Amino acid sequence: MNAIEHPIPYASWETRGFWEGAGRGELVLQRCSSCGLVQHRPRGLCAHCLDSADLEHFVASGAGSIYSFTVTEQNQAKGFAEACPYVMAFVTLDEGPRLLSVVVECEPDDVAIGSRVEVTYVKQDRDDRETFAIPVFRLS
Ligand SMILES: [Zn+2]
Repeated sequence: MNAIEHPIPYASWETRGFWEGAGRGELVLQRCSSCGLVQHRPRGLCAHCLDSADLEHFVASGAGSIYSFTVTEQNQAKGFAEACPYVMAFVTLDEGPRLLSVVVECEPDDVAIGSRVEVTYVKQDRDDRETFAIPVFRLS
């Protein structure tokens, strides 16, 4: 099984902190100081109280558990075809948000709902010399 060649992410003003954090080896989430909601995907305002003034970024633990997963047997997209079969999973982070990613460095039969995972990163080479990375997970 080959590694997936992830496409380079597009960083909007809302998501830049997430991608830059991953480039540093940090899983960056947002927390609302007013209501305490921890959210992902990154947004310009809290998804609960719809206030933008009290959002803060923080470094999450990178630990979580498999909420659900599928084994992708066929994918003809460039960068993914040679990696099949691979495991796509929704990971519930210990901080609460759920992230769609892949589980690497494992056999598909080793993954189960509830399996504990930890984040690792696939670094991206970019023409503008910024360092981004894709957060992926491995069994812990
Ligand atoms: Zn809030």
